[in-house]
Amino acid sequence: MLQIKSLKVFHGPIEAVHGIDISVREGQCVTLLGPNGAGKTSTLSAITGTVRATGSIRLQDEDIGRLPIEERCKRGIAISPEGRRVFATLSVRDNLIMGGATRRDKASLTDEIEEWFSQFPVLGERREQPAGTLSGGEQQMLAIVRALLSKPRILLLDEPSLGLAPQITARIFRIIKELKAAGTTILLVEQNAGAALEVSDYVYVLNNGLVSRHGDVAEFGDGAVLINELTGVQQ
Ligand code: ATP
Repeated sequence: MLQIKSLKVFHGPIEAVHGIDISVREGQCVTLLGPNGAGKTSTLSAITGTVRATGSIRLQDEDIGRLPIEERCKRGIAISPEGRRVFATLSVRDNLIMGGATRRDKASLTDEIEEWFSQFPVLGERREQPAGTLSGGEQQMLAIVRALLSKPRILLLDEPSLGLAPQITARIFRIIKELKAAGTTILLVEQNAGAALEVSDYVYVLNNGLVSRHGDVAEFGDGAVLINELTGVQQ
């Protein structure tokens, strides 16, 4: 589904990612693990097109690496960004309508939003409420559903557990598991190695802008401990 080769990412003069290869197959959940500053968000930003990058980024058969952000979105890239970034003053419903903004089939959007409201009643009950008044966990659910409403081929999730209580993190990871079971292809960025390994098929460990290790999740054994040792990733 997604194939990244020799990716370098730049923030002005700073090279944050130094030439990495990453692949995500259809229906897989692939996780990028690593400590602060490893280059995880930079990698996702390169995929969405919000930073300068070199190398190739192929979505199915097309190199999307030179396309503008909205074209990547139309081709099936969607992100739930770090820190959720919901539109705080817009209602929950309007946030979701924004999620479908690039879709051609707008007619079915209203029905789909209603379906998501029945799946996540906590959002349905707050549909007219400004999104900024939701709890962190509710905002995370909203950010994920907003991304899904663009009907992506691949969903990028940037640290969905960030700042959430353990119980809420568990709920968010249950949602990720359900999405995967429903066939959604996911590229997940996390620092919470234990939770991430439970939903992942394949793992890349990033350190200082390079992949230091990658493999099937089974190869990581009791990965939480191992990754802790390798990278200092927090549990
Ligand atoms: P975190 O979990 O803390 O978000 P990360 O693995 O996602 O870490 P990045 O945010 O991709 O790491 O950062 C990688 C490197 O790029 C870091 O050294 C960081 O300081 C640098 N960097 C990130 N964004 C910018 C920016 N806008 N301007 C300058 N440097 C940046």
